Amino acid sequence: MSGSDETLRTAAAALLAARFVAVCSHVDPDGDAVGSTLAAMHALDAVGVRCVPLCAQDSQVPTTYAFLPGSERYASVESLTDTPDTILALDSPHPSRLGAAEPLLGSASSVIVMDHHPDNTRYGTLNIVDETAPSTASVLLELLAHLKVSLDPVIAACAYTALMTDTGRFSYSNATPAAFRTAARLIDAGADPAALYRAVYEHRSLASLELQARVMSRLTLANAGVVAYSWIADDDFAETGALPEETENLIDEIRTLAGVEVVALLKVHDGYVKGSLRAKEDADVGTVARSLGGGGHRAAAGFTAEGDLGHVLSRLLPLLPAGEPGDDR
Ligand code: 5GP
Ligand code: MN
Repeated sequence: MSGSDETLRTAAAALLAARFVAVCSHVDPDGDAVGSTLAAMHALDAVGVRCVPLCAQDSQVPTTYAFLPGSERYASVESLTDTPDTILALDSPHPSRLGAAEPLLGSASSVIVMDHHPDNTRYGTLNIVDETAPSTASVLLELLAHLKVSLDPVIAACAYTALMTDTGRFSYSNATPAAFRTAARLIDAGADPAALYRAVYEHRSLASLELQARVMSRLTLANAGVVAYSWIADDDFAETGALPEETENLIDEIRTLAGVEVVALLKVHDGYVKGSLRAKEDADVGTVARSLGGGGHRAAAGFTAEGDLGHVLSRLLPLLPAGEPGDDR
């Protein structure tokens, strides 16, 4: 359970009493960010609460999740003509993760934080955080019961997409019995798992496959073969035509390599590097990301560090599993 029944009841009452709710999530939104945001929006619609899903940056939903029902209602913070009195902050462990929406926290009378990140700083007036939950959408579903919203095919599709993507298509260690039970409940409510799988994973642009080819051609083994990393430069987007959001699953392609314990994908920008880390075995990449100023889960984390690729690698690699000397997997 993510929060006591009491906290969930209080959060539901706050939402029902709200004049205008901004549903927010993190920068570089992934499937859980978009799926849980849209599931919340549809649920608030169902109980007649005025709300808007907000982009943490840019003014549109990532193209990769534009298929989700209601995605066209995403708005930019600058386009708001009314100030939200209530913020529902999803999948965002720290206010800074809310990007352009962060300043709205100051003027809201109620900030309801729902999350599953272990490093959530509880910055809300109400905080419902369950680090055992496989996705933020799973936490949100508990709230829907208190809002007396019953699952419909639209809410189920949004929540299922969040759960499917955050569990790596039900393959990571957070693909728990509870995750499968929730998935079954969402399918019973009308989510179509085959169609949602195709929409997320089998609807790629040729440009994104070209970018993947570049990433694979740069794959490098380090730390006696137990770490594999690759990188993407800004020019790769211009040259291939791939979009930034089309990189979300590229790290999963790297982790298919046998023998590696940790994989990293580094996006090299001018003067800084945005790193994504995934642990296949016991390594705790959340701690590694935190020590580089980022955060995330034990098995999936990220950070942003100043410097060029060489500099960031020289800081990162010593923090990752060393492998056995002579280990040449
Ligand atoms: P990704 O590698 O897909 O960007 O992120 C993986 C996980 O790490 C997500 O849970 C995400 O919230 C977290 N994460 C990624 N980048 C950052 C960052 O710069 N700061 C923090 N605090 N968490 C991050
Ligand atoms: Mn999540």
